[in-house]
Amino acid sequence: MILVLNKDISPQQDARLTAYLEGLGLTATRQLCQGKTILLLSGQTDRADTGILSSLPMVESVLPLADPLPLASRRSHPADTVVQVGNVFIGGGHFCLMAGPCTVESEEQLLSIARSVQAAGAQLLRGGAYKPRTSPYSFSGLREEGLALLRTARRETGLPVVSEIMSVTDLPLFEDVDILQVGARNMQNYDLLRALGRCRKPVLLKRGPAATVQELLLSAEYILSGGNENVILCERGIRTFSGGTRSTLDLSAVPLLHELTHLPVIVDPSHAVGRASLVPPMALAAAACGCDGLLIEVHNNPLHALCDGGQALLPEQFARLSRQVSAVRRSSEL
Ligand code: PEP
Ligand code: MN
Repeated sequence: MILVLNKDISPQQDARLTAYLEGLGLTATRQLCQGKTILLLSGQTDRADTGILSSLPMVESVLPLADPLPLASRRSHPADTVVQVGNVFIGGGHFCLMAGPCTVESEEQLLSIARSVQAAGAQLLRGGAYKPRTSPYSFSGLREEGLALLRTARRETGLPVVSEIMSVTDLPLFEDVDILQVGARNMQNYDLLRALGRCRKPVLLKRGPAATVQELLLSAEYILSGGNENVILCERGIRTFSGGTRSTLDLSAVPLLHELTHLPVIVDPSHAVGRASLVPPMALAAAACGCDGLLIEVHNNPLHALCDGGQALLPEQFARLSRQVSAVRRSSEL
């Protein structure tokens, strides 16, 4: 349900309305829409009497929620959202290269990779500290120690960092992480999405391996409806019957998402293909179809990587790819 507020509503009326809605157990997300303030109500909206609400002096009209994506869809928000992280902009014509190891392993490993990807043009350093692994016996990250190493790399290089958060309870530990990554496995962890909606940090939301584009957008809507507007979507491959690659990179999702939503869309070819040799061609294809950035796994010693070594580019391969991406972007005038 949507409340369109009167233009001349006083702060006192506003506070009374908020208290009334809270009393009904409803959460109101405030949005500016075509010059008017609207409140998007969530919770048990059937408990709210539309007759009473529309009779309130501060309410201009009450509308049913006809659009399942009132915040994420481009209909309600035609201009591209640009997410800012320090001096880095993502979306609305700003392209961002994010690169780094699958998982943080040691200070030496992380700093060496961070410096080389920075020199090659990456604007953000990625590195997992909490790793979701299919097997409980696999290395699952250095956890707090990994986050401390990311802090060191951030301080040493000035690169903002992106790292995956798996649990709501870990949120306080991620204070120095610039972009919170929601991994593919957690795209529908609704408690986590709601918690990230309450914070103001940018969120990189990965598409689940079996999720439709609409489900990805609904997950983004969870974060947006909490008041966090800084959502970046990430296509990272979906499960199909194709075989040969780890997943199937659904590149059609990039222009489709650009039609459906104002949120930036980046592509992670590394997890999609799972093989280093296939990462550059798919990254270039992603750049050609207009993505707002790329997330690439890079390792200085892939043979000994603790996680996803087979899909990691060497620093020099990443540097070459970075130059090629710039060329593709120039030739496509994106
Ligand atoms: C990752 O980025 O390291 C990762 C685990 O990715 P995904 O959630 O896409 O599998
Ligand atoms: Mn990985």
